[in-house]
Amino acid sequence: MFIDFTATLVKCDCCGKYYDAVLGVELWFRSKQEATEAVKDDGWEEIDGKLYCASCYEYNEDTDEYEVKNDRNRETVIN
Ligand SMILES: [Zn+2]
Repeated sequence: MFIDFTATLVKCDCCGKYYDAVLGVELWFRSKQEATEAVKDDGWEEIDGKLYCASCYEYNEDTDEYEVKNDRNRETVIN
């Protein structure tokens, strides 16, 4: 038989990369909460409700906050 189910993938809000901890295989989770906790444990960060991979955010010592390094989506809109 076939059983349909709902899965959650995580995609970086900046570069569009999918969370793939294992050799390019996209990992899915059972819920947004589970996904958020898992990717945060693996170096991703949630900023203003969006998720960013380790390449796309940096820690700002002056403000003591994480900031998006380079929002490529925003640049695309401007250009
Ligand atoms: Zn990214």
